[in-house]
Amino acid sequence: MARYIEAACRLCRREGEKLFLKGDRCFSNKCAVERREGCPGVHAKRRGRFSEYKIQLREKQKVKRMYGLLEKQFRNLFFEADRRKGVTGETLLSLLESRLDNMVYRAGFVSSRCEGRHYVSHGHFLVNGKKVNIPSYEVKPGDVITVRERSRSSARINESMAAAASRRVPEWIELNTGAYEAKIQALPVREQLTHPMKEQLIVELYSK
Ligand code: SF4
Repeated sequence: MARYIEAACRLCRREGEKLFLKGDRCFSNKCAVERREGCPGVHAKRRGRFSEYKIQLREKQKVKRMYGLLEKQFRNLFFEADRRKGVTGETLLSLLESRLDNMVYRAGFVSSRCEGRHYVSHGHFLVNGKKVNIPSYEVKPGDVITVRERSRSSARINESMAAAASRRVPEWIELNTGAYEAKIQALPVREQLTHPMKEQLIVELYSK
C-alpha cells in the first residue's frame, strides 16, 4: 500500500498552514509552521504569482494531504462524490470524513489520521462488532466503532484518548471512553467542519 513517507511538517509549511498531521506535536510550540516561516526548500523564495490554476491546485493538495490520501485515491473519491446526488464539494468532504481512519482520529482513539490509518490496518478496531482493517472503510451514521479488547492496554491509544479528552470530541460522535466505544450519530454537515477548506476550488480543478 503506497503512502507518503517524507517529513509531514514540510507539507504544512508548503501549504502555509497547520494541517495537524503529527498529533500532539501540532498543539505544542514545536510546530514547524509556528517556528519557521515560508515554504520549505532552497527555491522557496522564487515561487511566483498565484494563477487561478495554482490556487485551485494548492487547495486540492492541502485537503488531500490533510486527510493523508495519495492523488489516485483522492481523485477516485472525487469521482465518487461527483457520481452521488448532492453538492459535489460537500459530498467529497463527507466521504473524506466518513473514512474509518478519520473517524478513529475524530473520536480521539489516535492522535492523527496517519496514526489512525496505521492502527486500523493493524486491526485494532471493530465496527459494529466486526474487525475492520481497511482505512478507507466508509463509516455510516449509526455505526459503532470499538477498540478491540486486546488493544485496550495499548499505551498509545490510552495516551491519545487522555490527550483528546482535553479537546472537544465532535458533536456527531457519541464517545463512551470507559467502553472504548464511539457511536457515529451522523456525518458532519459542512458548517461543522471548521478547518478552512474551499472545496469548490477542488471541484473547479477536477472539472477542467
Ligand atoms: Fe503541521 Fe503538525 Fe508539523 Fe505543525 S507539528 S507543521 S501542524 S504536522
